[in-house]
Amino acid sequence: TPPPKGHTPESIARFLAAETARFCTAHPKAAALHRQASRHFLFGVPMHWMADAPSPLPLFVDRAQGVRLHDADGHAIIDFCLGDTGAMFGHAPPPIARALAAFGSQGATTMLPSVAALEVAALLEQRFGLPMWQFTATASDANRFVLRWARAITARRHIVVFNGCYHGTVDDVFVDLAADGSAHTRPSLLGQVHDLAAYTRVVEFNDLPALQAALEAGDVACVITEPVLTNIGMVLPEPGFLDGVRTLTRRHGALLVIDETHTISCGPGGYTAAFGLEPDILVIGKPIAGGTPGAAYGFTADVGARMQAAKDHAPPGHSGIGTTLSAGLLTLRLMRAMLAEVMTESAYAHMFAISRKVAEGLEGAIARHGLPWTVTRIGARCEYQFAPQRPRNGSEARAAFNETLEAALHLALLNRGVLLTPFHNMVLASPAHTMDDAEKLIAAFGDALDGLAAAQA
Ligand code: PMP
Repeated sequence: TPPPKGHTPESIARFLAAETARFCTAHPKAAALHRQASRHFLFGVPMHWMADAPSPLPLFVDRAQGVRLHDADGHAIIDFCLGDTGAMFGHAPPPIARALAAFGSQGATTMLPSVAALEVAALLEQRFGLPMWQFTATASDANRFVLRWARAITARRHIVVFNGCYHGTVDDVFVDLAADGSAHTRPSLLGQVHDLAAYTRVVEFNDLPALQAALEAGDVACVITEPVLTNIGMVLPEPGFLDGVRTLTRRHGALLVIDETHTISCGPGGYTAAFGLEPDILVIGKPIAGGTPGAAYGFTADVGARMQAAKDHAPPGHSGIGTTLSAGLLTLRLMRAMLAEVMTESAYAHMFAISRKVAEGLEGAIARHGLPWTVTRIGARCEYQFAPQRPRNGSEARAAFNETLEAALHLALLNRGVLLTPFHNMVLASPAHTMDDAEKLIAAFGDALDGLAAAQA
């Protein structure tokens, strides 16, 4: 095999400049819309961080169907971003379109229970093995409320997170580990005045002794984690790590919260069902309401009884848990359609086959170019990382970041008709992808790497 070729910052910048010019030429309407949008929106986009996407101008989407995005400039793009999992089962899957047509005229929100809610809870129990459920509008909210419950029922103040974690816009988890082992509020947070490290301990993933040390004072309400870190690049659990987390949390009276929002890519019951985890509380969001806002958290009967006791013993008034539009009638009908008709075993079998092909194709192109990069796949989610070995924790994963190279490759792929998830090198597979879509992605990736190599000259 040829020696790994290093790309210099200059060659990456040259490649990015060429791809930027190509994108701007092909998107005159996006340029005009973006100018117009700057009057109304921060950075010219309706959610400010859309402007951080790797394209020099935002793509303006006209419609999204299956895995095709149609933009204002008339391009049809193959979508492997899928709304960063929100549309992992394809855009507008037919059961969702049917449910919207059938129930769109029957009310969306009432602040009352529904038969649909009961049906969804039964479907969730079948998948995840947990009997009790509550609903929220987003996975961020679900995690936020779960932390509140965990503290309420354990009467403990601290939580433990793993370095490099992301669980949505939940203040308590934005704590990073410095090289000297100290914990700090993530400096990028805007308007945060609290010292989040006061009640949040942060340890490295795959480090059981550090977890033991964080738990042994007996003051930790819960450990919250994804079973595989997916938001700092991918970090797989080493054999025995998650068993160790379960043993230690039980031993020290801390609850184990598993956030399956992304790892639902591992199968119908997420990583939890695929690998037999035993969380006390499980969070699921993003795709479960067909790409509309909707999330849920499930828990054991024991945790449920403790939650009821905590609420019973609290003074009357707002619990700080729950929002008006949560558990709405329409949302629950969409969840029912997703769980019963879309997120099926056969859909997963197809997604895994697509993702396997993508992972092999990316690995092949990387090997052909002699690049010191790795590819990691969990079910329908696959990611390349700029490191010769898979990172074992958040610090190693962060060290593998190269923002300019990442952006340049994303943009090059977009110029070749495929969209990956920004802020990751992540490729999601959907039941709506065909093998031909996977081949197009692999070809585009190979062509982009050729372009990157040519820029070295
Ligand atoms: N949990 C995990 C693991 C996530 O990756 C995300 C979003 N990327 C969230 C929770 C929050 O989801 P949302 O932005 O829909 O609230």
